[in-house]
Parts: sequence; structure tokens; C-alpha cells
Amino acid sequence: MASFLQNLKNFFTAPAYSSTSNFITFNIQCNRCGEEITVNVRRSSDISRIYEEEEGPAGSAFLLRKEILGKKCNNLIYLTAYFGENYNLISSEISGGKIIEHK
Ligand SMILES: [Zn+2]
Repeated sequence: MASFLQNLKNFFTAPAYSSTSNFITFNIQCNRCGEEITVNVRRSSDISRIYEEEEGPAGSAFLLRKEILGKKCNNLIYLTAYFGENYNLISSEISGGKIIEHK
């Protein structure tokens, strides 16, 4: 029965999942209160292409700059990340928090 419900759930949520390839997810922990914050970055709008005259690590093609605010405190977390052509993470800098996981 559980698997039937799971299949049903998968069936109904499948269309939404097809667009998740557009997202890069960071799990971030707030340095002040320890809250874990999930940040979904949209490839199409949150990440900008790095042009040759701009500085970035070797091989980087895209840049993300994001301000992240949790729900439990007002500590603002600044995330900067560089990605290669395949949206692979090349390097990242974060202040006010730390990156637990990146997918
Ligand atoms: Zn916090």
C-alpha cells in the first residue's frame, strides 16, 4: 500500500521534477544560529556568465552571487560561487555561514 501511494505521489509530482535540472541546490548552515537553509539557485536567472575581461578562477564560466537570510535570525549570509561550463562548482566563498552540501 505504501508503495502504491509512493507511485501515485511520484506520478503526480513527476512534471515538477522535470524542471529541477534547472536548479542547483546548496545546503547552508547559518554561523550564528546553526539553522540549515536550503538554497535553490536557478541556472537561468540567478547565475550570470563570466566574460573574459572579468576575473574568475581558471575554467570558470558562470558566477553566482547570493544573499541568504534564514528564518531564525537576521544574520545575512553572502555566497559567491564559480561554475564551469557544465555548471560544475569550481570554487565558492561564503561569509556568515558554511556550505554543508552542494548538488
Ligand atoms: Zn541564523
